[in-house]
Formats: sequence, structure tokens, C-alpha cells
Amino acid sequence: NLKGKTAVVTGSTSGIGLAYARAFASAGANVVINGFGAPADIEKERSAIETDYKVKAVYSPADMTKATEIADMIALGEKTFGSVDVLVNNAGIQFVSPIEEFPIEKWDAIIAINLSSAFHGIRAAVPGMKKRGWGRIINTASAHSLVASPFKSAYVSAKHGIAGLTKTVALEVATFKITCNCISPGYVWTPLVEHQIPETMKARNMTKEQVIKDVLLDAQPTKEFVTSEQVAQLALFLCGDDAAQITGANLSIDGGWTAE
Ligand code: NAD
Repeated sequence: NLKGKTAVVTGSTSGIGLAYARAFASAGANVVINGFGAPADIEKERSAIETDYKVKAVYSPADMTKATEIADMIALGEKTFGSVDVLVNNAGIQFVSPIEEFPIEKWDAIIAINLSSAFHGIRAAVPGMKKRGWGRIINTASAHSLVASPFKSAYVSAKHGIAGLTKTVALEVATFKITCNCISPGYVWTPLVEHQIPETMKARNMTKEQVIKDVLLDAQPTKEFVTSEQVAQLALFLCGDDAAQITGANLSIDGGWTAE
């Protein structure tokens, strides 16, 4: 039960992030949603959360490449609702290319959005959590925080980095009733996965069907995509009292991918 608590979810205008925001709202939390998209679409998602779950939702346009905007997002949550109790660092992008052709600006953007943004968000949110003596920090890592795939140098580096950041923060806040964990999904059918298909077709010289069957689902023994809702329910569990002793963990939800 998250009644009276506030959850900030970065990258929640789409995919897994939106599922997290809706799951926290369903448990009674007020939410700060964030991410890019058409203003009308974002407003539709925001107001749907309020009407579906009878909670308050505000939108922060913070760009996850900008440290000051990330701090502003945390401040917006604290100012609007009085606290930020749950922080989910989830915004992420992908780019697929052989390393020798990997665009330098894509490397920089992926490290900024998929890794450094979590540092900036945690840095801003921890003081309030410590003061109130309760907090949940959840980072969306990936199966790529544990294993690599070719042509994803920046993404795999950022995700391995977030697994290390998770463990470090968990140790620092351990005695304050704040937990910090990461969730590592396998392939979830979201726009992020859909958009990498053309790049993978090019990098591997494959058709779309081959990429889905021989690259994406090939990694997953269950031969099924994970759903955003399944990931969100795991995050919700991490917010409960039963998860108070789960900290510094990297929780896989990957159809068996990293068991192989
Ligand atoms: P998505 O593309 O559906 O959503 C990404 C979100 O991040 C969107 O809301 C987007 O607007 C936002 N975003 C991107 N750049 C941003 C920026 N600079 N500032 C603020 N917001 C920004 O993707 P998704 O699949 O839902 O991915 C969410 C997270 O899950 C990412 O960290 C991704 O790496 C991770 N993940 C996804 C999968 C998968 O298979 N889809 C698997 C493992 C991990």
C-alpha cells in the first residue's frame, strides 16, 4: 500500500515506465511522470492515471541528459506532494552499431540517459528519504547488466554501470530503511525494442522476422516477451514491507535468458 506516498518514475510516458507509474498509482501513490512525447498524448496518460486510480499525477518535462532538470524533477515531487518516497530510474534509449562506427554522440547520450541520470536522481532524492526514514530506489537495468550482446557497446556499458551504482547506493543507505535495487528485464515488447529492429536488420543483414525470432526471442528460453505489467508488479513488490530486506539486488525477469 503506497497511500500518501509519492513515486517519481523517469521515462514514464511510454513502455515499462508508464506501467510502473500506473502500478504505483493503483497502490494509492501520487506519481510524477516524466519523458518525451506529444503534449496531448502525455496529458491523456496523466489524466487517465488520475481518473483510473483516484490519485494525483503531475508531469515533469525534465530531460535526463540535464543534471539540473533532474534535480528540478525531484523538487517538483517534493513541492507538489510533500515527499519523494519512491524513485524509479527508468528512462533509457538504445542504439545498435558495430563499435568502430558507433556514433560518439550516441555513446554520450546513452551513458547520460541510461546511467548518469540515475546518479543525479538518487543524489537529489536521498536527502528527503533519509530525513523521513523510508525510501525505495529502483533502477531499470537489463539482462544487459549481466551479459553482453554484440553491437550494443554503450547500452551494455551503461547497464553494467547501473548495476554497480545500485549496489553502492544500497550500502550507503542501508541503515535508513531505504532500499536500492535494480530490475533486469529480458526483452519487453515496447517502442524501444521495436525501434531497434531496423538497426539490427542492418547490422546483422537480417529480415524483421529473423531479428524477432533469431535475435530477440532466441535469447529467451521461454520464447516469449516479458510484459511491462510483469516488470511493474515486481517493482510494486519491492515497495512493500515484505521486500524491506531486499537491497542491492539485481532481479532478473528475463524468461531464463541469463540462466543460459
Ligand atoms: P520506451 O522507449 O518505451 O520508453 C523510454 C522512455 O524514456 C520514454 O518515456 C522516453 O520518452 C523516455 N526518455 C528517453 N530519453 C529521455 C530523456 N533524455 N529524458 C527523459 N526521458 C527520456 O522504452 P522501454 O522499453 O519502456 O525502456 C524503459 C527502460 O527499460 C530503459 O531503461 C530500457 O533500457 C529498459 N529495458 C527495456 C527492455 C526492453 O526489452 N524493452 C529490456 C530491458 C531493459
